[in-house]
Amino acid sequence: MSDSVKYLLDETRIPKHWYNLVADLPSPPPPVLHPGTLKPVGPDDLAPLFPMSLIMQEVSRDREIEIPEPVRDVYRQWRPSPLFRARRLEKVLQTPARIYYKYEGVSPVGSHKPNTAVAQAFYNREAGVRKITTETGAGQWGSSLAFAGALFGIEVLVFMVRVSYNQKPYRRIFMETFGARCVASPSMETNYGRSVLAHTPDSNGSLGIAISEAVEVAASRDDTKYALGSVLNHVLLHQTVIGQEAIAQMEMANDYPDIIVGCTGGGSNFAGIAFPFIGAGLRGGRKARIIAVEPAACPSLTRGVYAYDFGDTGRMTPLTKMYTLGSSFMPPGFHAGGLRYHGMAPLVSHLKELGIIEARAPQQVSCFEAGVLFARAEGIVPAPEANHAVKGAIDEAVRCKEEGVSKAILFNLCGHGHFDMQAYQDYFAGTLVDSTYSDAELAMALAGLPSVPD
Ligand SMILES: *Cc1c(COP(=O)(O)O)cnc(C)c1O
Repeated sequence: MSDSVKYLLDETRIPKHWYNLVADLPSPPPPVLHPGTLKPVGPDDLAPLFPMSLIMQEVSRDREIEIPEPVRDVYRQWRPSPLFRARRLEKVLQTPARIYYKYEGVSPVGSHKPNTAVAQAFYNREAGVRKITTETGAGQWGSSLAFAGALFGIEVLVFMVRVSYNQKPYRRIFMETFGARCVASPSMETNYGRSVLAHTPDSNGSLGIAISEAVEVAASRDDTKYALGSVLNHVLLHQTVIGQEAIAQMEMANDYPDIIVGCTGGGSNFAGIAFPFIGAGLRGGRKARIIAVEPAACPSLTRGVYAYDFGDTGRMTPLTKMYTLGSSFMPPGFHAGGLRYHGMAPLVSHLKELGIIEARAPQQVSCFEAGVLFARAEGIVPAPEANHAVKGAIDEAVRCKEEGVSKAILFNLCGHGHFDMQAYQDYFAGTLVDSTYSDAELAMALAGLPSVPD
């Protein structure tokens, strides 16, 4: 048998619980701190921004958190997502490795993000929230929340990083089709946006700036809350449907991953595929090597420091301990993918600190090379972010060939790239460039880290 194989579960196998890794960790991640008092935040501190149900998930130590039926009903539209054995790719690579990928591009917006957008919209509606604000970089998260808002009758306002807003007009129309409003950030709609524009009128924007704008609007209105598409514990939690399904599908394939690969921007899709496997290992089961792949252009896990930092550029959010490049870090506007956040999810950072996961940071041109190779073998054009995972998996498969060993490699193909043809066009035209940071450049953004006593 040489063609690629698909492992499908029927919809009764959609997970009934999200999996909370904190329950199985040898030590919990450090507490989140209030930016003013530097004391651990309590649930009430977060109440202006999030409904209490999500705050309780954020701080939960329970291993399993039930998925509400209305959320599972929506999941049913595309879940369980397929798992493939990439036999055609294996053949092209002439590798003895067994390569599997979980495909999240089958969701209505083409990525893993609706797994949490739908849950967040549901809990907000239960709490009587009328409007949600958020930020989006490449547009995947804004699209996902716009989709979920439409289903649950919630107004959605998206601050889109200006460089992406200009480069990806179709993304904005896509969000508007779901009824959301999308503005370029920095914008004139917030105090913070106006202040950035006052001294940098041609600012490209960044996720950190857009977060500040979305938080400012939500914090100033009673009927409005804020939603984040990555980084936070509850977001990572919602993504664990991916890995739980993958465990069952690997069983169908009569195999178990030796290596698990995911790309990391804020860490949510990586957590989604990896956490259920990591948890199984921590509870005494088989352990896999877990590899996070981030862009060389935004290398928080590989070149950042593990420290308390703000989640946004305007320094309004609580402080979390994480791998960070500094909240004033400005990723280059020319970088093709999302994955531009200055920090990394506290839980993923904690795993790196504990030595449970590894990280690497390839250059973007090599990632597109891997993505194109994958597309030609498997027929799916990956999102530029997903190309980092493809690259990580292919590198491991090539190593298997060199070493003459057959390992099972599982990676998360977190989205398709149908809205990202400009990036592919740039790649084919040879205008996509790799970026290098000197340590001095990185040190500059890190110099602004808040000082927090031990
Ligand atoms: C948003 C996004 C990412 C980055 O976010 P994570 O939280 O790290 O998953 C990666 N891939 C795709 C397709 C995305 O939409």
